[in-house]
Amino acid sequence: MASLSPGKISRYSEPLWMPYCQMKTASPPIHVVATEGVELILNDGRRLLDAMASWWCACHGYNHPHLTASMARQLDVMPHVMMGGVHHDPATRLASRLVNLLPGELNHVFFSDSGSTAVEVAMKMAVQSYRNRGLERRRKFVAFANAYHGDTTGAMSLCDPVRGMHHRFAGTLLEQHHLSVPRTATQRNALCRLLRDQGDQFAGVFIEPLVQGAGGMRFHDADTLRFLREVTLQHELPLIADELATGFGRTGTLFAVEAAGIVPDIICLGKSMTAGMIGMAATVATDAIYETFYSDDPADAFMHGPTFMGNPLACAAANASLDLFETEPRLEQVAAIEAVLCERLEPARVIADVVDVRAMGAIGVIQVDELRDVDRLRSAFVDRGIWIRPFGDVIYTTPAFTMPLDRVRFLADTMVEVTREWSTWT
Ligand SMILES: *Cc1c(COP(=O)(O)O)cnc(C)c1O
Repeated sequence: MASLSPGKISRYSEPLWMPYCQMKTASPPIHVVATEGVELILNDGRRLLDAMASWWCACHGYNHPHLTASMARQLDVMPHVMMGGVHHDPATRLASRLVNLLPGELNHVFFSDSGSTAVEVAMKMAVQSYRNRGLERRRKFVAFANAYHGDTTGAMSLCDPVRGMHHRFAGTLLEQHHLSVPRTATQRNALCRLLRDQGDQFAGVFIEPLVQGAGGMRFHDADTLRFLREVTLQHELPLIADELATGFGRTGTLFAVEAAGIVPDIICLGKSMTAGMIGMAATVATDAIYETFYSDDPADAFMHGPTFMGNPLACAAANASLDLFETEPRLEQVAAIEAVLCERLEPARVIADVVDVRAMGAIGVIQVDELRDVDRLRSAFVDRGIWIRPFGDVIYTTPAFTMPLDRVRFLADTMVEVTREWSTWT
């Protein structure tokens, strides 16, 4: 029988194909049989402290009783129903709660099933919004170096074309325009020039506010976001905030754009929206965008509709997660985690090969010159009881907001200790 077995057994006939993984040479994945709180329980009984929260998603930890009970109730009543021509309370309730939480006139919620799809939906929305006004030329987007917006083809075209993980698809994707995130005066001028000279070909500007995630955990400040808002307003170009990773408290405010006091024209949400319980995403548009679709012409309707759009079980999870943001002190917990990560990761700065150490909200990063021996590094963490997945040039953590602070200290201290050890490997 084929299995993800360690050792020399060939995985040539393995039925389970893993993501971002060279199946032939990579170390076997860890075998998880259960989750509990902030831990993964392995098939051999070991427990690992989870530094990843399952790719930023499990913000309240695993198996939170309020999440599981809400989903169990929904499972009995109506696990799923199509959304074409049908609506239901879990979806209407979630849409209005999101609208109430989001800043400004982000008042129209389009549900989908994954973050990449939410990005595709935002791209289509922006392009069709112009077409509904007779502006056919506007179809390209401005995106940034180190950007990551997803794995589907439209979303891939927005990712960093050089350093991103999709360079094997060069030449097959939509052409977008990539610039450096406009931090410095020179970078800001470059964006201004581009929009001045070629602005009328663009349908929007995509940014991951405050933190660029899978493109390398790069941070920028609120001032950069305010600048982006200002120039896009000048050129009447939609600013599209991809908050798949940052949304729902990760950077310290409920949404990262709030830290800059700006309102984007479109915002993409997902990942921790359901607290990691089940796949779901949303693309939320302002009144101004929505109005360009709202007409007597059926051809102006937005032509999109994923099969599992607004899945009631996912809506129940998302509604329950919002309950927890209301009843438990999540943002205070994020602030406390940030303080611990800042203090405890700092000693890594002097390690050879470390080029930067940074933390924002519940995100802690040790950036190195070049990440060698990734498999061995991962094992060194597992040996110390931690699940962490270094990639690119970063060793990073995005823990659950409910992780007790003594565990966060242990996690950060271990990140420093293992990085120090790693730097001596030859
Ligand atoms: C994860 C992520 C996506 C893609 O979401 P999926 O649910 O994996 O399709 C897009 N953008 C950002 C910023 C992300 O972090």
